[in-house]
Amino acid sequence: MRAPVAALAVSAALIAIAAACEGAPDEVEVLDLGTVTLSDTGGYSGPIEVAMPSDTTSAVAWCGGYGDAALGAVWTLTDPGGAVVYDGDDGDTSRFRSDFLDDMAPALLPVSPKLPMADGAWSFDWFVGAGNGGSLDCGAVIRSGIGDDVGSDATINVEVVFVGVDLTAATAADDADWQSALDTFETEWGTAGLTVNVVYKDFGGNVDRFTVVDVTDDDYSEFNDLLRTADPDDPRSITFFVVEEIANNSDGGATILGLSAGPPGAATVPRTSKSGVIVSGVDLRDAPGDVGRIMAHEGGHFLGLYHTTEKDGSNHDPLDDTPRCTSDGDGDGILLASECAGSGSGNVMFWTFGDDNPSFSGDQGWVVRRNPVAY
Ligand SMILES: [Zn+2]
Repeated sequence: MRAPVAALAVSAALIAIAAACEGAPDEVEVLDLGTVTLSDTGGYSGPIEVAMPSDTTSAVAWCGGYGDAALGAVWTLTDPGGAVVYDGDDGDTSRFRSDFLDDMAPALLPVSPKLPMADGAWSFDWFVGAGNGGSLDCGAVIRSGIGDDVGSDATINVEVVFVGVDLTAATAADDADWQSALDTFETEWGTAGLTVNVVYKDFGGNVDRFTVVDVTDDDYSEFNDLLRTADPDDPRSITFFVVEEIANNSDGGATILGLSAGPPGAATVPRTSKSGVIVSGVDLRDAPGDVGRIMAHEGGHFLGLYHTTEKDGSNHDPLDDTPRCTSDGDGDGILLASECAGSGSGNVMFWTFGDDNPSFSGDQGWVVRRNPVAY
């Protein structure tokens, strides 16, 4: 809601003073953008417009419901002036990047200072691959009221849900290992200007099924199903599920310490396959700081951050001030933290654990403080 002072016929200076005294509302609103029918072989949604009011800070738009076995992504993004600012056919991810995601493909604006929010109608065209088709349910959440004036600090509500681990909502506050994990998480997020406001809950669903979350390289349906239970008391929160283990059952599958919806997650939207983050508690008793590091990293993905450098070096984030590693010294096709010293291993969003005490860059902080879940 706009402050009523905007309607008064007084000078601009007086309006500014009145608005500052009242405090501009910083609100999120969820919009239903309707349904699109695709053939079974997949295809394009066609242009879906999201109208941003003049005081918009950020938005997450999505199309979803196409199934856990299919993949979808934003294929073209057009700004209010009619310029195509991202085109999946030309591979230019310098200003905007969209990854393929199963069942729901959210897209965040802005993901880079190089493509800031602008008033008016942005147009998204989603592509969904073969394997499901059917109908897409599309929507958006818009954060508005304060425009781009987010400042250098923000708060994010975190609802931690314990699933089959030796921690409960009642014991977490006095559990030294958990508090150590939380300290690390809060310290790393603090480098982006984020303050964490934590509440705890014990999982009320099928604990036996989700204590160990089983995935394979091609099947993340159990991960998706646990996220579909995320329903925080305050919708403007990120749900972090802490499970006993995330088991990768593919042959030679790498250990998984955390998984995030996105990037980006479906900020402020409960009960979708992109409604939170899952963290493995397997290291909680031996290396609690690692659990905190995973929370910081996976939460960064939820908020719209990509890896600064991917494991094989094939891609980077769309930010100018994050370090990019290109040196595969031993030629094994993997950019190890030891090969990326000084060029990425000190960033929270490097693809794997790197230096101790990693931090976010200025541009990364710029992105996460604008996310609809932040305030
Ligand atoms: Zn990651």
